[in-house]
Formats: sequence, structure tokens, C-alpha cells
Amino acid sequence: MKYISTRGQTAPKSFSEVLLMGLAPDGGLMLPERYPQIDAATLQRWRGLSYPELAFEIMNLFAGDIPAADLRRLVDDTYTEAVFGTSSITPVRTLADGIKIQALSNGPTLAFKDMAMQFLGHSFEYVLSREGKRLNIIGATSGDTGSAAEYALRGKAGIHVFMLSPHGKMSAFQRAQMYSLTDENIHNLAIEGMFDDCQDIVKALQNDAAFKQQYSIGTVNSINWGRILAQIVYYFAGYFRATASNGEQVSFCVPSGNFGNICAGHIARMMGLPIRRLIVATNENDVLDEFFRTGRYRPRSAAHTYVTSSPSMDISKASNFERFVFDLLGRDHFQVASLWQQVAAGGGFDLSAELPRIREEFGFVSGSSRHADRLATIRAVHESDGEWLDPHTADGVKVARELREAGETIVCLETALAAKFADTINEAAGHPVDVPRPAALAGLESLPQRVAVLPNSAQAVRELMVQTLG
Ligand SMILES: *Cc1c(COP(=O)(O)O)cnc(C)c1O
Repeated sequence: MKYISTRGQTAPKSFSEVLLMGLAPDGGLMLPERYPQIDAATLQRWRGLSYPELAFEIMNLFAGDIPAADLRRLVDDTYTEAVFGTSSITPVRTLADGIKIQALSNGPTLAFKDMAMQFLGHSFEYVLSREGKRLNIIGATSGDTGSAAEYALRGKAGIHVFMLSPHGKMSAFQRAQMYSLTDENIHNLAIEGMFDDCQDIVKALQNDAAFKQQYSIGTVNSINWGRILAQIVYYFAGYFRATASNGEQVSFCVPSGNFGNICAGHIARMMGLPIRRLIVATNENDVLDEFFRTGRYRPRSAAHTYVTSSPSMDISKASNFERFVFDLLGRDHFQVASLWQQVAAGGGFDLSAELPRIREEFGFVSGSSRHADRLATIRAVHESDGEWLDPHTADGVKVARELREAGETIVCLETALAAKFADTINEAAGHPVDVPRPAALAGLESLPQRVAVLPNSAQAVRELMVQTLG
């Protein structure tokens, strides 16, 4: 299986090559040259598999240059009860109103990003050691992504992580989660600035080709193919848990930001998983909801990106969305390149003529949720089911309730746990509540923390990295 770019100007690459890649050199995103098709007999056989067995079967179709025995060991090491809390890894439960919730957030950082990032940690270490390479990851985070990357890469041979975060701008829980890691290869840098300043520093260092080359600088961003691949697995797992037989169809409702999570659902559906509809749920930052309702894609400026109470969905443009548009347009890379040229020039594009195909052929629909909806949903589910939903998951449940059709089974993906967002839960409840937290995280905020505070300067970060890496 070879990988190609959505912009068509990159030579085909192997799985191991795309695993360590971000953007393709031509500015596009990497995708397999075709999607493997799962026939009825295979789907029947897969129904009985454990999560790691299923992960092996699916990934083995895509990871051509990793020997089967090695891949099996990688997924066995990744998807364990010790890391994800249950042997089923992503259990599905049913709310009183019949909506199902697939738990994806029982990994170390209590958000679904662990599902993919933990696999990347193991597979990066494997590929680097096989090729005698090392990798120095640099990234900027305002919370979830950075901590998931640190927990996945802590203690991994051949890898250092330099994670920039805005000094004093994260919650006490988020700070404690990242800064309490004391592994030698994890470096927390608190920058005296905002998240955008952190991102600008990362870009500046990335654009310094000599530095990048000399120090083997890489990233783990949401467009990495390995992350999408790992996410495909839980759509299959969720489908099997939510149904009694493969004659049934299921719809998935996905709280969306960069379109990475639901892009994996799209690929599972293209492989033949009986998914009826893919329901995109956004918050106030509704660039994707607008597209799936109107066919018009209009990325927003930073000034029109709102800070909301489901912060991990606060995006102005959805980087993984290009992968879907590539498939929608029959994989015409000329057309994709021309559409994203319009985006790069500050514009957008209009695919309203494709709306019927987007709905019928690809199964996409969408809805959005606002602060008041989120709070009302959190409150309502607590009343009916006695549990607190995380604010992002609540956006999904709100949209699923709104769009559900008679007889439709909808699985809402739980993208984080409420314990991470105490302020919003308190606001929804109208009084302080004690949201249950996994035992492993009791007293997290009182652990010693390790962080270097640096001025808002790329040069200061570069000097610290050079000093550390020797
Ligand atoms: C990252 C994230 C999302 C958005 O996922 P995408 O793959 O970017 O669409 C939603 N909820 C939570 C809690 C997240 O951390």
C-alpha cells in the first residue's frame, strides 16, 4: 500500500515514511492510494475480535512495510486495560433516551486523542530504532494535544519532546497534567505570551531548514496519517458494540474541530462499515456546520474564532477536511490544489452543487451547539442518567438529539471526560459539584512540576533546545 498527496505533486510514499510526516512537501495531506474493501465474511469474523486484534487486522491492511508480527506487538503494547481502563478499550453505553455513547476518553489524558497518540508513541519508537534515527518533536499547545503527545512519548527511546504552552493561560488541571511529567525526554516550555505566540515560535523554528535538518525536528499534528489510521479502528469497534448483527446500520455523531476524528469515520464508511450517517457537531465555531448545510466553505479569521466552553473545537479552518474533499471530488488533485489556493489567498469555495452527493453518497449531515445548549444538555443528561458529560461530548449529544430520525441508532463519540472541565460543569449544575476523577489522577495538582519559563522569543527556545540536545 502506497500513500499519495491530495495535491498530487509528491512521489508515492510507504507507510513508515508517512508515519513520520506532517504536511506533504506539496502542501497536501497524505492518503492511501485506495481504501481496502471489507467484505461481509471479514466483517463477520471481525465482530468477535478483541480491540487489539481488531486494530491489528485493520492496520495491517494499511501498514504494508511493517512486518505483521511487529505490528501485532505494537497494537498489543498500545491498547491495554492498564492504559485505557477496560479490556474492551472503548465501551459503549446507552443513555435513557436511547442515544449511545462510545467512551474514547479513558486514556492517560482523559481525551480521545490518547487513542491515536498512544499508538504513535509506540510506532514512532519502533520506526526510529529500525532506521537508526532520532526525532525531536516541537509543538505548541493550549491543552489537549500537547498533553496527549507528552504522555504518549514519555520515556520513548530516540525521541525528545519540546512542548510550548502559554505561561499562566492554562487551567490548574492542564498545567498539572503536563508539568508533573518528570521524564528526561519531556521538556515543558512556558512562554510569556499567548497560544498564538507559541505557535509562531514553532513555525519559525520549523521554517529554519538548517536547524530542522541538523536537529531532526518533527511535529505530531492532527494531520498525521498514523493518527487517522488509529482512529478508524474505534468506528469498527463501536459499530460491533452498538449492534447485534452486521445487517444493522449505525450513525456516528462526532464533536468536531480539525475534522480528524470524523475523517476516520468517513474512511471506515468508505471501507464498507455499515455507517448510515456521519453527523458533524460543531460549537459556536461553525465553519464545518456551514459547509455541510450549504456546501460553502468559508474559513474564519482569528478575530472571528471564538473562545468557547468546548475549547478543543475552537478552530477557524479544519485541516483534515482536505482529505474528505479529495474523495468528494473523485480524487482530482488539480481541483483540490486550486480550491486550497483560494483558501490560502484568504477566500473560500463553493461546492453547493455537490450537496446531494455529500448527503446521499457520503452520508454527511451536521448541526451546531452553543454555550446555553451545552449547559442545558449537561444538566439534562445528569438528570436523566446521573452522569456528567464533558462539554464537547454534550455538543455532540445536543446535535444527535436534534437530528435523530425514527429508528436510527446514533453512537455519540465521547471525546473527553467531564473531570477536565470542572468550571463548565459547575456552571451547568448551578453549584460546585464533585465530578468523579479516575483514581490515578487523585492529587494531580499537588505533584511537583517541571517547567522552564521562557520569554516570547524563538531564539530563546532554540538556545534551550541546542543546550539540551548537546
Ligand atoms: C481534539 C478534540 C476535538 C476535535 O477533534 P478533531 O479531530 O479536531 O475534529 C473534540 N473534542 C475534544 C475533547 C478534543 O480534544
